[in-house]
Amino acid sequence: MAPKLNHWIDGRSAVPSNNSYREGVNPATGGGGVEVAQGNVDDVKAAVASAENAARSWRRFPSAQRGRLLGNLARTMRERSQELAELEIQDTGKPLAVALSEVENSAAYFEFYAGLVNFPVGDTLDVEPDQHIYTRREPFGVIGVITPWNVPLNQAARACAPALAAGNVVVVKPAEASSQTTVALAQMATEVGFPNGTFNVVLGKGSEVGTDLVRHPSVRKVAFTGSVAVGQTIGHLAADRVIPLTLELGGKSANIVFEDADLDFAAKEAVRAFTTNAGQICSAGTRLLVQRSIHDKFVRAVSEVVSTLRPGQDLGPMITRDQYQQVQKYFDVAKEEGLQTEVGGDLPADEKLQGGFYVNPTVYSNVDNSARLAQEEVFGPVLVAIPFDTEEDAIRIANSSDYGLVAAVWTKDISRAFRVTEEIEAGQVFINTWSTGAVQTPFGGHKYSGYGREKGIEALNHYSHLKCVVVSYADRQGHSAGLPD
Ligand code: NAP
Ligand code: MG
Repeated sequence: MAPKLNHWIDGRSAVPSNNSYREGVNPATGGGGVEVAQGNVDDVKAAVASAENAARSWRRFPSAQRGRLLGNLARTMRERSQELAELEIQDTGKPLAVALSEVENSAAYFEFYAGLVNFPVGDTLDVEPDQHIYTRREPFGVIGVITPWNVPLNQAARACAPALAAGNVVVVKPAEASSQTTVALAQMATEVGFPNGTFNVVLGKGSEVGTDLVRHPSVRKVAFTGSVAVGQTIGHLAADRVIPLTLELGGKSANIVFEDADLDFAAKEAVRAFTTNAGQICSAGTRLLVQRSIHDKFVRAVSEVVSTLRPGQDLGPMITRDQYQQVQKYFDVAKEEGLQTEVGGDLPADEKLQGGFYVNPTVYSNVDNSARLAQEEVFGPVLVAIPFDTEEDAIRIANSSDYGLVAAVWTKDISRAFRVTEEIEAGQVFINTWSTGAVQTPFGGHKYSGYGREKGIEALNHYSHLKCVVVSYADRQGHSAGLPD
């Protein structure tokens, strides 16, 4: 019998109230995986009730102690990195090195926010004599966190570490396909001393328990990472309840290479940009904008590196069967639209990979930005190379997208690098490099890529209310305070 994965509620493992489970899938083989609890509204109620209870004392916990717990959790994650990586591999099939770096990055969130339990601090506003006005940051209380399947531990850590540091408690709903590491994280939090109820996990279908969580009247803020369509649904629910929401959605990020760039390095980075985690990264660089004078040569260099990557070793599988089918659908769309294939566009022939959800990393060249593969997020290792002529062209094409998550500019002309960077609609822009895992860097989107910011000190603003306090020490009567808002 497959092992069963249960909720983590009030500091202990909890079987689903209707005792229902759904069999998971191992994406590396197509065979069975862990059986995942199928929660319902009663489980959500139990988790939120426990969280609400914990919230009262957690917000008054001495901040140094709160920080110490976050730090202890980071240390435990590192000590048990192999265990966490193995669980992540069971759910996602990613290579060990990728899983281990995900664990390291996840631990880094707790370490970073451990030192920021008192930040951001409030301000003192010197408005009038005889008054002292100050602002202070206060936690929301119960935060609902909903995460996708691609980098599940990292996304849980990215939201929960700042939320907890800011004095909130969390109820996390991970993606059904990859829930194991989130439960393990909550269990570790309990083991290192987080009070029961500060870190809860409810499992089950997004359209059921996810919705129930957003609708629950005691959930005061939601942090969602996932697709645009689900983000919009949650946006409506959050609007009905008038609660704040952070949306980290998809991307079709532009990687812009000018002819004067360090082309050897840029080519290697362009490959990393769209093949990391087999392309299942929201900030993947999947639109390669190349100056026309070097387009063919540069795309050849990129394709040569891509053709050395071996699915099953360098690249994991698509994490869900749906995603596997989605990527193949886009291979068909590329054929229908007559795209020029440089490498890939098909499935690996290797016998050993049969049954697993593997696809070959793929490059299409000379693509027009209006092609579906240039506009729609594939969420697999699929790159479209788009030629451009001038700097203005590059900016126009980069911004001609519904998305705006990240972008990169490759050039030795520093003035051009800054000019282009300022014009690009994206939350992070890289100059002569691709991406950063640094937990200190604020991250989030423009347009359909979402709103709000995760990571960095900035995230703490999104996990707290700002209260303004006015103290008068005037000993005169009848003082006019002006017209109230
Ligand atoms: P998804 O289908 O939107 O699912 C995300 C989460 O939402 C899952 O936990 C899912 O549960 C839950 N969910 C589904 N329907 C829901 C509903 N009606 N109400 C509440 N919750 C619901 O996304 P995905 O397929 O897991 O991940 C791929 C997408 O995530 C891509 O578009 C990618 O770009 C985006 N992404 C963005 C970032 C970022 O930081 N910007 C990072 C990673 C991924 P189930 O498990 O039941 O589906
Ligand atoms: Mg989905």
